[in-house]
Amino acid sequence: VTRPFCGDCDRTRLTADGQIRSCLFATAETDLRTLLLSGAGDEQIAERWREAMWGKPAGHDIGGTLFERPRRPMSAIGG
Ligand code: SF4
Repeated sequence: VTRPFCGDCDRTRLTADGQIRSCLFATAETDLRTLLLSGAGDEQIAERWREAMWGKPAGHDIGGTLFERPRRPMSAIGG
């Protein structure tokens, strides 16, 4: 947080309940679970994941005026 490296970050996270988080501090999640349960193929799943990552925020802005706390904090999505 004190030494942000967001500009070089390629982190992505799939939560235990099947939601993609493009950033640990992202306020939006992309539903992958429904797609997985529908029997979608690998390419469809990869495309959904790519789309989610194209929306990756530029950074967390902690300490800035634009920071918005995610509904589910890091501890609720696996750290
Ligand atoms: S705040 Fe988001 S973009 Fe920045 S390093 Fe963490 S996961 Fe990556």
